[in-house]
Amino acid sequence: METNKTFTIIKPDAFKKKYSGAIIKQIEDSGFQITNMKLISLTKELAEKFYSIHKEKPFFTNLCEYMCSGPIIVMSLKKDNAVEDFRKLIGSTDPEKAEEGTIRKLYATSIEANAIHGSDSDDNAKIESDFFFKS
Ligand code: UDP
Ligand code: MG
Repeated sequence: METNKTFTIIKPDAFKKKYSGAIIKQIEDSGFQITNMKLISLTKELAEKFYSIHKEKPFFTNLCEYMCSGPIIVMSLKKDNAVEDFRKLIGSTDPEKAEEGTIRKLYATSIEANAIHGSDSDDNAKIESDFFFKS
């Protein structure tokens, strides 16, 4: 399994607030290369499929609704140790717990509307990237 790829989404809250440019700059300045990128809107079906791992969680329905609430930017990224380094760059799921300088600390609104997604494993990086960039 490759360890130099990850996948990210600039979520609807961050896109709406016009943070996309600053977030992409921070990602590139941190050494990540964008290998795929597109602006899309999710349907309920796609959001539910993408987050199916969370379907038993209490936040699942709201999360899927929120992810469909406006345009998002999906990107595949390349860098050594991509998954771990990117999770460090975005910070904790809850922006109140995220470290200073992380993308979620800087740009997130709430634990749900937390500005950005980052894959949590090499396997999921490939699955998530293929989800949006292979048809
Ligand atoms: N989420 C939420 N409430 C929670 C936990 C998570 O609304 O209590 C949302 C949030 O947008 C998060 C996403 O569900 O980014 C996926 O949750 P996960 O635990 O995978 O967090 P992540 O990997 O994104 O940090
Ligand atoms: Mg996750």
